[in-house]
Amino acid sequence: MDLLNTLVEKGLRRELPTRDEALAVLASSDDELLDVVAAAGKVRRKWFGRRVKLNYLVNLKSGLCPEDCSYCSQRLGSKAEILKYTWLKPDEASEAAAAGVAGGAKRVCLVASGRGPTDRDVDRVSQTIEAIKEQNEGVEVCACLGLLSEGQAERLRAAGADAYNHNLNTSEATYGDITTTHTYADRVETVQQAQQAGLSACSGLIAGMGESDEDLVDVVFALRELDPDSVPVNFLIPFEGTPLAKEWHLTPQRCLRILAMARFVCPDVEVRLAGGREVHLRSMQPLALHLVNSIFLGDYLTSEGQAGKADLEMIADAGFEVEGAGTTTLPEHRVHEEGGGCGSVCSAEPSAAAGADAEQSAARTDLVAVRRRGAGTDLAPNA
Ligand code: SF4
Repeated sequence: MDLLNTLVEKGLRRELPTRDEALAVLASSDDELLDVVAAAGKVRRKWFGRRVKLNYLVNLKSGLCPEDCSYCSQRLGSKAEILKYTWLKPDEASEAAAAGVAGGAKRVCLVASGRGPTDRDVDRVSQTIEAIKEQNEGVEVCACLGLLSEGQAERLRAAGADAYNHNLNTSEATYGDITTTHTYADRVETVQQAQQAGLSACSGLIAGMGESDEDLVDVVFALRELDPDSVPVNFLIPFEGTPLAKEWHLTPQRCLRILAMARFVCPDVEVRLAGGREVHLRSMQPLALHLVNSIFLGDYLTSEGQAGKADLEMIADAGFEVEGAGTTTLPEHRVHEEGGGCGSVCSAEPSAAAGADAEQSAARTDLVAVRRRGAGTDLAPNA
């Protein structure tokens, strides 16, 4: 396939594909799927070898958010029966983080529900970062606290944060359909504030919200322009009790095409397989390792992932290796002098080009398990 040869050559040269080429990846057929995965896999191996970086989520504050992001189980008016709790204390958060690090994670992602932190919240999170860094030598810490106000990114950086996550989630054109309480521009601004403060930016998307192929290409191209160091790709978990509960559009094949497109557009960036992988990729998860170089270990913010041990076995069985703490994730040319070198989740009518994938697929509500263990509970975490 000429298209795939072109995309591989561009990926190896870190050259941006055209929008039409990115759209063609999404429109490719199931018969072409393994060729698409193999082609994007060449680009992945060029920049990241066979390494898989593990990241571990700690939900510092769960539920009761005043924002209305329709994909989110923690949103205003959510009827999802998730864990709800206020800020974990620094030692509680550090204990949860230590479980992830012991499981092989090199980055801990500290997430809190809400529009954005108050200055007091930044103080709290700063103490938590300090506690985690003190108890887990060499661990990277990413904060995901929502929209930032002036000076907050600098304060988090000074407290030892390595990275900040804030996802664009979907295209600018459809952003207003999924959230009304803040704008796409607000999100872009927060990512830029983090970058300006010397934090490694992490910003990604959520697929499966009923968006078109054009929307997916728009958001991935917008991310490439924003130039984060890591791009988490989430697949919508349609939680009962949220407005998107009936949006079951994704198939494993569709997810693989989306990940391949993200890899071709962001060849040398940490592309992370994020929330929803177990629900939508299911037994095809190992193929995704040929496309992404990073995953979350264990559970998500409000839902349970597969057992941490199963994640590690999957990586080994597929012929990949867990990235060690002493290894720099990004290729040398991307490692900035300050702040760089290193996620996320705070996650229209389908287009004709999306073909069979765009139809409603079988709802797999049996695979959506609300998190009942780890941070905010008395039960041991999954790591
Ligand atoms: S995504 Fe973040 S800001 Fe939006 S509703 Fe969920 S917790 Fe609140």
